[in-house]
Amino acid sequence: MKKFIRFSAYCLLPTAYCFFSSCSNDNNKDKTETKILTHQDSIPTAPKFNEDSAYSFVKAQVDFGPRIPGTPAHAKCSDYLFAKLKSYGWEVQMQNGNIETYDGKKFNLKNIIASYKSENPNRILLFSHWDSRPFADQDKIDPNKPFDSADDGPSGVGVILEIARQLNLKQPNVGIDILFDDLEDYGKEHDNDADTWGLGAQYWAKNPHKPGYAAQYGILLDMVGARGATFPREGESNEYASYVVKKIWNKAAHLGYSNYFVFQDAGSITDDHVYIIRDANIPCVDIVNMNAQTGQFGAHHHAHSDNMSVIDKNTLKAVGQTILEVVWDEQKLKI
Ligand SMILES: [Zn+2]
Repeated sequence: MKKFIRFSAYCLLPTAYCFFSSCSNDNNKDKTETKILTHQDSIPTAPKFNEDSAYSFVKAQVDFGPRIPGTPAHAKCSDYLFAKLKSYGWEVQMQNGNIETYDGKKFNLKNIIASYKSENPNRILLFSHWDSRPFADQDKIDPNKPFDSADDGPSGVGVILEIARQLNLKQPNVGIDILFDDLEDYGKEHDNDADTWGLGAQYWAKNPHKPGYAAQYGILLDMVGARGATFPREGESNEYASYVVKKIWNKAAHLGYSNYFVFQDAGSITDDHVYIIRDANIPCVDIVNMNAQTGQFGAHHHAHSDNMSVIDKNTLKAVGQTILEVVWDEQKLKI
């Protein structure tokens, strides 16, 4: 990841999609207002997100070494993520595909997909990329060498793994799918063709694990573990999933996390969510650490300093508890 694009590259999506988006907004708002008031007492409280556990999931990925596609570390980490999700009782599948990157290299894609209550039509999609960029090209020192990439990839995956673990212990009546997508971070910097990024998400959006797959909305976590992170409301998310943005940022404020989930609007970025919005017609929100004014990511972005020293359990907790409760609350709409 990724590229800052001040103006949306996908503002010309079909009108029907925009209509769908705004309809979802209105419907959901109505449901929220009427049904939560009636049924909220019958829902047990949401589980407590364990930041120590999430941290250990981040570290376990980093300990494999850089998860660069085609390397043994990449293969071992995919096995680890698959086994972890399975151990928490989720239905897990590996999606493979042949992918060619911008530099002509060919890889066997590994998208890891897990489903909870797959029969429930009321579904939420949680996703994060799990591969690491092959080089620290934003670093002045050794820009061609690999780096640990602890925040970029593992933090989002670690938070989602902990959510998966909690939802196995205390099970809500809502369908959830997890997508750990591969080959997000192999894109070409300074290239006008943004589609060199997010190859795993692009593949899944065109070839979902279930034909005709639909979700109410999706939440992308990307670089969600750094100390002092700020998550402004990203442009594509505001444009295509404003009602979900509102839910998440209001929940974070309610929990006391407005220092992370800042009430500021940022420009649009190219990240996995744009492909899932565009090709799978699922409204998505990107929670990503960036500066709303400059559009810059953290100083450790694609640099050797992106290692475990930047990861802060408080940030993992803020993101994890917020998302866990947003997902948990979806039960209230369907009783
Ligand atoms: Zn990246």
